[in-house]
Formats: sequence, structure tokens, C-alpha cells
Amino acid sequence: MHCYICRNAIEDGAFHYNDHGFQVCKPCFLNSGRCFICRFPGKKLVEVPGLGLECEFCRGNVIGQGDDLVEIIAPFFAYLSQFGHQPILHPDFAWTERTALREMQTAESLRQEEFIDDFLRYCYPVYYRAGAFHLLYRMTKSMFVVHGIVQFAAADLARRFGLDDLAGRSPFHTLARGWAHWVGFEAAKRLGYDLERRQLRKWPELGGQGEFQRFEKMAYFKKPKDMSAFLMANLNPLARKHLTGSDDLPLAKNGTS
Ligand SMILES: [Zn+2]
Ligand SMILES: [Zn+2]
Repeated sequence: MHCYICRNAIEDGAFHYNDHGFQVCKPCFLNSGRCFICRFPGKKLVEVPGLGLECEFCRGNVIGQGDDLVEIIAPFFAYLSQFGHQPILHPDFAWTERTALREMQTAESLRQEEFIDDFLRYCYPVYYRAGAFHLLYRMTKSMFVVHGIVQFAAADLARRFGLDDLAGRSPFHTLARGWAHWVGFEAAKRLGYDLERRQLRKWPELGGQGEFQRFEKMAYFKKPKDMSAFLMANLNPLARKHLTGSDDLPLAKNGTS
């Protein structure tokens, strides 16, 4: 086994970094910069302004402003309809600066992101609000597909209940968000997108993934159609209880009743 960067032999059992089908020895790992997206200590890292380094494997695999995003996501509309969701046929995609995208989702003061993981730990890289799908710059195609599915499901629910987005702490919000999160998680599982599947299992923290685990467990014994029926049967009464009046403080408002 040889190091991808310096070509020196890596002895059996010695520490090495492994990704993209290549191994990198410890000295190279410690001395090289690392890719913002995948953390690989690439050989040809390029500095992307305002982001960080990008490796030769991620370059070309990331989606950008010139890409037809509808063409990438449209093949998954049939998947979404299995879960009872109407596709949004002419979605409005808005490339959004990282800090602004984070502030849409959390008011917590978080440390500056070093890698994309630091962002994904607390926020979605695709976020639906008020008619637009806000996008993080430099996403891989698989990340866009999986998170796009989460947010298309979220957008459909938000529209049905007359909301801008699914942000909120009430039982209505956590159930709706958990469902959308699970629909994307299930897609990652079926597509074999292991990285996204593992990330969605634990992130975003701070309650972003809502009651995801409830649906993950339910999927072992219920069909998508029955799960979707369960969702709506539960969301409707929760909406009546929690979405009336002030949309800012549904919990405080109902907590005393
Ligand atoms: Zn090396
Ligand atoms: Zn990379």
C-alpha cells in the first residue's frame, strides 16, 4: 500500500487516512490542507473563496449555479408521491450565503465552520422557506438530492398548513419535521448514499430532525402509504391545537391552556 500523495509505502497496521479509494500516510495527512467538503487531504487542493479548500475528487462533483437543478431532483418526484407528497413542479431555488442559511435555521451562536460537517451538524444545506429552496454553495449532487427530498416533503407540508416553513417547537412542528427528515433518510438508504444516511441519523442537532426516530422505528412494520396516513391523521388535530393565533409562540400559548 502506497501513499497517494508522497508515494511512500505505508506499512501494515500503520496509521493512514482512507477515502475515495486512496490511502494517505500520517506525515502527509498532518502536513496537507484538507478539503472543506470531504476532509480528504488532496493532492491538488484549490482554494475556493469564502469557503476553503476543495479536493480533486469533489471538484466537478459539486452542483453550482449553472446546473439545471430541477432535472436533478425531478426523478425523485415519483418517490415523494409514494409518501403522499405533491411535487413542486417549478421550484424556486435560491443560492444563499452560508451564514444567512444558518440564521434561517438556528439563532444559536455556533463556531465558524471549518468543514462542511460543522455546518451540517446544526443545519440543513437545503432549506425551504416562504416559497424558495435556499441552497448552500458547493453541495455534492448526492447531498442535494437527499436534502432536496427532505425539503420538498417539508415544503409540501408547510404549504398545506399555510406556513412559511416547518420551524417551531410545538408537537405539530416536531412531528412534521421528523417526517420530512425521515423521508429523506429513507431515500438515502434506498439510493445507497451512505454518507448522507449516516449524517441524517444524527444531524442536525438542536432539535432540527424532530421526531425522526419515531418514523424510523415505524418503518419496520408499516408501509409508506400507511405511514403517510398516520402522519396526516396526527398532524391535523395538532395543527388545530398549535397553529392557531401567534405562530411565534405556539408552545407558550398552549402551555397554559
Ligand atoms: Zn505520504
Ligand atoms: Zn473533497
